[in-house]
Amino acid sequence: DNPIPANFIRHIIGDDLKSNKHSSKVATRFPPEPNGYLHIGHAKSICLNFGLAAENNGTCNLRFDDTNPEKESIEYMESIERDVKWLGFDWDGLFHASDYFEQLYQYAEQLIKQGQAYVDSLSPEEIRVNRGTLTEPGKESPDRHRPIEENLDLFRRMRAGEFADGQYVLRAKIDMASPNINMRDPVIYRIRRVHHHRTADAWCIYPMYDYTHCISDALEGITHSICTLEFEDHRPLYDWVLEQLKTPCHPQQIEFARLQLEYTIVSKRKLNQLVMEKHVNGWDDPRMPTIAGLKRAGVTPKAIREFCERIGVTKQNSWIEMSVLEYCIREDLNENSPRAMAVMNPLRLVIDNYPDGKTEQLVIGNHPQKPELGNRDVPFSKVILIEQDDFAEIPPPKFKRLVNGGEVRLRGAYVIQCNEVLKDDNGNIVELRCTYDPDTLGKNPEGRKVKGVIHWVSEQHALPAEIRLYDRLFTVPNPDNEANFLDVLNPDSLQILSDCRVETSLGKATTDSRYQFERTGYFCLDSKDSVDGKLVFNRTVTLRDSWEK
Ligand code: ATP
Ligand code: MG
Ligand code: MG
Repeated sequence: DNPIPANFIRHIIGDDLKSNKHSSKVATRFPPEPNGYLHIGHAKSICLNFGLAAENNGTCNLRFDDTNPEKESIEYMESIERDVKWLGFDWDGLFHASDYFEQLYQYAEQLIKQGQAYVDSLSPEEIRVNRGTLTEPGKESPDRHRPIEENLDLFRRMRAGEFADGQYVLRAKIDMASPNINMRDPVIYRIRRVHHHRTADAWCIYPMYDYTHCISDALEGITHSICTLEFEDHRPLYDWVLEQLKTPCHPQQIEFARLQLEYTIVSKRKLNQLVMEKHVNGWDDPRMPTIAGLKRAGVTPKAIREFCERIGVTKQNSWIEMSVLEYCIREDLNENSPRAMAVMNPLRLVIDNYPDGKTEQLVIGNHPQKPELGNRDVPFSKVILIEQDDFAEIPPPKFKRLVNGGEVRLRGAYVIQCNEVLKDDNGNIVELRCTYDPDTLGKNPEGRKVKGVIHWVSEQHALPAEIRLYDRLFTVPNPDNEANFLDVLNPDSLQILSDCRVETSLGKATTDSRYQFERTGYFCLDSKDSVDGKLVFNRTVTLRDSWEK
């Protein structure tokens, strides 16, 4: 396999191992908030965290950062576990920030006792205003100098439920004049009477993210706490909390650039809006950049892992072109998926000199470069179906497919010639009358060259199918930059072809099988809507990068 490319985080870890900085093995974690499904951006973080642990014979935990009960749910938690496993990773420990609520509370009392936290009665709005701006220092709250005993008493009563939501908060007492606004006495606890999906109604105060995250990392013995760049100026707070508490372990926070992918969005809030407002058909809609959507579209875990490796890990935010992801998908599917024939817009073609009622089972290889993928039987008979646009009455220049009077090869079968075009009263072509050359099965015809090859199915043997063609969800590369990202939704991102015909062997397709439909793209069976008698296939990706015409 390819050598592992270097990146700055691999360097840091390599140096730490050499200097024996951490007396333990490399320990990382992937810490999603269960407030939505995972997306391709999360895949980058998953591959990075689990990958670094695996490369260094270390450990990686899955930790749910579940401190915002209003937005979180069991459904999201379960989907996250499923998607991480599907991507090919397995966690060493499975934890929840909510597992630590008691310890987090005790640590907060410790801060209060050390004179480093206070209960504040200012409203969230007053706190926000008092924290100041980049150019103007913050203003101290009148409660900042409340005596320790009083803080402790109030904090205990906050926990006991004596106060209304929002009446008090607990703030870390750091530095209201710090140039870093995160250090201007951040709120670390708030009162919120909300049912929590794991701790039920045991708590009416919940810890804030910045306070929770560093302690959770420390409690799990994480050595390298990897997060995205927007947390860079939260790092002083991360370190401050752990220093004051003298936790036995002090992980190193390292920031990297988050993935931004063109023509889509990777914000759970916006993806949630697409789902709730039914712009798409659920989190696993194949147009969604979610892991569940990519999976349902037929993308392989291997292609996603390859993509994450290929885009690399840096400190510079940048937009990755969709074609990079599509390249990785095609590369995997081209190599590993069997070929099959499906006709999307059928045109009837009758072979006049082929015997009535005869069926031949042609044996066709499943993969042109991989004989080990075997062969399949494809029935051939007198009436076959081809793609409407594989025939042209008035051919455009360089048209290599079927024309009246011309010859073409049917993939894996014979050379045929078109002799007559039948039309209905409206002038629509309804049938082609053809003849075949029985001497051309697996060999070139005598004395002439036939360049075109088209795909086909036998009318009487083919199975009806619906084929769903997906396109990009947005019409512009950076929908996030729009005032309203919904304005640039691609109205043509889903095209449903409901009268397709596919070759018999596709009746055996399972939701894990993926195919290259000859000449049209890569497809998989839809895991939700495909049933016996009505096959539904999703297009994963086109054969070539044809989008930027
Ligand atoms: P969103 O903005 O979509 O809500 P988030 O960062 O709030 O994302 P979390 O559930 O907190 O979502 O993310 C879990 C982990 O995945 C975090 O460590 C986060 O840094 C990482 N992550 C999230 N989005 C991306 C992304 N686009 N690229 C790389 N890593 C990401
Ligand atoms: Mg987050
Ligand atoms: Mg978020």
